[in-house]
Amino acid sequence: MNDTVWIYGFTGMVLAVPLALYFLSLRKRDRLAREAAARGEMYSSGPLSQHPSIDTTYCIGCQSCTNVCPEGDVLAMLGGKAAIVNGHKCIGHGLCADACPVGAITMVMASPRMGADVPYLTPEYETSVPNLFIAGELGGLALIKNAVNQGRECIDTIAARLAESGAPGDGIHDVLIIGAGPAGISASLRAIERNIRYITIERDEIGGTVAKYPRQKLVMTSPVEFPLYGKFKKTEISKETLLAFWKTVLDRADFNACTNERVETVHRGADGIFLTTTDKGEYRSAAVVLALGRAGTPRKLGVKGEELPKVMYRLIEADHYINKKILVVGGGDSAIEAAMGLANQRGNQVTLSYRKDSFSRIKERNAQRIEEYSRSAKLTVLFNSNPTEIREKSVVLDVGAESREIENDYVWVFAGGTPPTDFLKKIGIEFGMKDITLEAVKEVRQLIAAGKPLAQT
Ligand SMILES: Cc1cc2nc3c(=O)[nH]c(=O)nc-3n(C[C@H](O)[C@H](O)[C@H](O)COP(=O)(O)OP(=O)(O)OC[C@H]3O[C@@H](n4cnc5c(N)ncnc54)[C@H](O)[C@@H]3O)c2cc1C
Repeated sequence: MNDTVWIYGFTGMVLAVPLALYFLSLRKRDRLAREAAARGEMYSSGPLSQHPSIDTTYCIGCQSCTNVCPEGDVLAMLGGKAAIVNGHKCIGHGLCADACPVGAITMVMASPRMGADVPYLTPEYETSVPNLFIAGELGGLALIKNAVNQGRECIDTIAARLAESGAPGDGIHDVLIIGAGPAGISASLRAIERNIRYITIERDEIGGTVAKYPRQKLVMTSPVEFPLYGKFKKTEISKETLLAFWKTVLDRADFNACTNERVETVHRGADGIFLTTTDKGEYRSAAVVLALGRAGTPRKLGVKGEELPKVMYRLIEADHYINKKILVVGGGDSAIEAAMGLANQRGNQVTLSYRKDSFSRIKERNAQRIEEYSRSAKLTVLFNSNPTEIREKSVVLDVGAESREIENDYVWVFAGGTPPTDFLKKIGIEFGMKDITLEAVKEVRQLIAAGKPLAQT
């Protein structure tokens, strides 16, 4: 009898401690979320481009939103109402807003503090420069479905304006679209559908960021309406299937795109007509849609030896690399997906180097998988580490306080990209979202129309 009491008592204590810690952490999270809400902020960290905004007056606590989020615990129920607990994990699927039965959730852009590097856009995706639109990830919203929707909507606005003003003169396109990723492709198809004279300029190949995903990457998307093709219903497809769909677009005789041509400048003349200069020529158009994405130019490490041909910034065909010693640098989803993809190839020894002490802003699925890969020694993760020199056959890294040299055949760097901010500023596009009032935008437009310098604003 005594033994039974002991066993129950001991088991109870063992279970009680983690449970107590769990409830304490929930209470702390609850308190921080409430304090943040009282200040009109989110309980979250990290840069965000978009996130759900919850009107707790209407929230009925049904948990539909928390159940549908593919990224895991962006939202949680606190005190019977939905709250944002891991805002940095939100990448804008918007499924929570779709699932909410009482319309208490809307997707909003980040606060001005967070969105300082995001161009100002009207609800029609027009910038502070009249008839210059931004579609897709460049405007701050990630995901293929958002890019496709925005590309389509920009063209609808342009078509409505052309219907009022009439087509521009000979030799002037109705619209010039820059970039042929999901946003640019969608805008081009809509232009065909609306019978608008358009031209699309792409510095690389058709497909944008999707074309550069690792081979066989599983692309998650929501059903989306593709101009001319109708509803694209699949929600999980391989990159290759998506690109095969792109190809049906490419093969259209009326898909008017110039590839391997880089746009260098866009200038709006006093007559309101844009002159776009590329590395191959010049184009005039009544409107411009910038669908450049945010990948920009890959950011470099700035270490000795980085110019060696074995250093790369993009991984497409992971299966081309076998029996190699590989270093992947970075702590975001791209770095982790590349490291795991390479670790899956025969005979590869992969090390993932990240300057911080943990991964913090990655997808839930990647967080779980990298943990498993590391635990089962499929790859080595070096936290608090920085490459200091890349050599022909090795890499030197600072790992904590010590310097380590490891054998190496290839290095992949995923340190983000320099977004095309300077390019946009040169055109005269204003940045920041809510801190620009409509009045200020009107003023900027008047100055531009009068050909006066923007510095006066
Ligand atoms: C590793 C990774 C995984 C992802 N996984 C998913 C996913 O599973 N599901 C999902 O919905 N989203 C995913 N995304 C996000 C998605 O790919 C992007 O949100 C989407 O591609 C944005 O489309 P876009 O048309 O705005 O830009 P992009 O796809 O980046 O296309 C922009 C195009 O503009 C061109 N361009 C840029 N500058 C110039 C210039 N000066 N002149 C001419 N052309 C120019 C570029 O070459 C490019 O082709 C992922 C992103 C990454 C990096």
